[in-house]
Amino acid sequence: MTNKDLADLLYPNITKTIDDLEKMYPQRDLPNGAEVCRFAPSPTGRMHMGNLYASFVPEVMAKQTDGVFILRIEDTDNKRAIENGIQLIIDDLENYNYIINEDPIDGGNYGPYIQTERKEIYHIVAKYLVSISRAYPCFCSEDDLADMREQQEKRKERIGYYGHYAKCRNLSYDEVKKHIENGDKWVLRLKSMGDFNKKRVFKDLVKGTIELPENDIDQVLIKSDGIPPYAFAHVCDDHFMRVTTVTRDDSYISSVPYHLELWDACGFKAPKFAHLLPLNIKDGNTIRKLSKRKDPEAAVSFYHEKGIPVEAIKLYFATIMNSNFEGWYLQNPDKSYRDFKFSFNKMSKSGPIFDLEKIINISKNYLSRLSAKEVYDNLLVWADKFDKDFASLIKKYKDYTINILNIEREQKKPRKDFSCYSEIKSHIWYMYEELFNTENKNYEWQNITNKDEIKNILESYINKYYNASDDKDVWFEKMKLLAEELGYAANVKDYKNNQEAYKGSIVDISMVIRVALTTKSMTPDLYEIMKLLGTDEIKKRIRLL
Ligand code: GLU
Ligand code: ZN
Repeated sequence: MTNKDLADLLYPNITKTIDDLEKMYPQRDLPNGAEVCRFAPSPTGRMHMGNLYASFVPEVMAKQTDGVFILRIEDTDNKRAIENGIQLIIDDLENYNYIINEDPIDGGNYGPYIQTERKEIYHIVAKYLVSISRAYPCFCSEDDLADMREQQEKRKERIGYYGHYAKCRNLSYDEVKKHIENGDKWVLRLKSMGDFNKKRVFKDLVKGTIELPENDIDQVLIKSDGIPPYAFAHVCDDHFMRVTTVTRDDSYISSVPYHLELWDACGFKAPKFAHLLPLNIKDGNTIRKLSKRKDPEAAVSFYHEKGIPVEAIKLYFATIMNSNFEGWYLQNPDKSYRDFKFSFNKMSKSGPIFDLEKIINISKNYLSRLSAKEVYDNLLVWADKFDKDFASLIKKYKDYTINILNIEREQKKPRKDFSCYSEIKSHIWYMYEELFNTENKNYEWQNITNKDEIKNILESYINKYYNASDDKDVWFEKMKLLAEELGYAANVKDYKNNQEAYKGSIVDISMVIRVALTTKSMTPDLYEIMKLLGTDEIKKRIRLL
């Protein structure tokens, strides 16, 4: 009996061959240098920032080389899968505007894109491995394997199904046939040719050359339920999806010698590997992995609720992905991260530190560069979800709101008031009559706190100097005249040189007007604010005091 007979005995219904698969999934017709990359999550729950970063990297590399970005769902471990897991992942990726070329919903020519739907492919490859004597069925029970482990522990030997412990390696065709006819449970194992005392050398695009012991364990390729564990599945998938670079978590690196043995055994050319270090976080004096459980900022929803723009987060990912990005972006603030040339060898070899403050900073800068209309549109999207009342207010006063958002904006050094959409209301609420009337007002008076003096300043201003049609220069001249009339220095220098001669300076005067109109001691340009508020509202607010 030949290996072919054994293969037919184990997989009687598999008629297709590797050659058929090679034809079904031909080499991709892509430009030179194009990378085919994939993100291959398990559908086990909501994505977190670590996953989003892990998907940013392959997406960026695929896009910048005019390649292909694939979403593949690795659901072979069904116990951990959750019901709408796939949709949750796609929603997050789409929300971040990742360009996905092939995925389980929209499909593609290299699917299916869900591992549990690719069983036939795995079995075709498995049957091939049996036929070339690189795989065999193992009928050992859980108890047999537990005994083996116990013996190995007692003898202080490596744990695993290898060497003389791999007893099903030598089963004859007839013995196998008897087991199968009995209906005994079996798994398919690799017949490893590795030598643990030899080294396998390989290149990792992030870490450089790596040397690890060869694999010599007859690992399970197909479990008794017909489903492969991760290792065998990903080799079949990445080969027939024509993936050129595998990006994945650093924790897989110790298994690479085993994976390479599989690539070789199948007769496939292995792709390039880039193992990504997990995001770390500073916790007091220690550095640890960013944790979904411990760190609120690990959740994607955290940014969503705050209204931190996804573009800002992607700029942050770009910053931690390549050490030379930040400098480039400072030189090219008007460009997108898509214009930067990323490379794997500029990735941190020690694990990037996840830094919320940095994200906030990037977000502040990013928001300051948007047009008022863009800020308005995004603010409305955010408010529709998280602050309905504010959403109706800014809808009602659309142009007015855009004008507010435009104060000190489209200029060389724009204001950087807010880092996220949820902060905007707290900066501009006083511009709305409705909110000014209803919010608790805490007037932030500064040097001048005396009620009579405040009244005096405001009344003199409104009766003698204020004129809604003044341009900014005239407005300012009048502020000076008002100061002089009331015994305040018209400029700060005069006041500094001769403090006894004055009650204060123009700064104190304009502060009173600012606080009276907004309650705030710090606001954007007062002239612009007054222009937008208009005469009636200004008079009303002054009369309140
Ligand atoms: N399904 C694996 C995980 O979620 C991904 C491994 C890979 O990208 O190859 O960790
Ligand atoms: Zn066995």
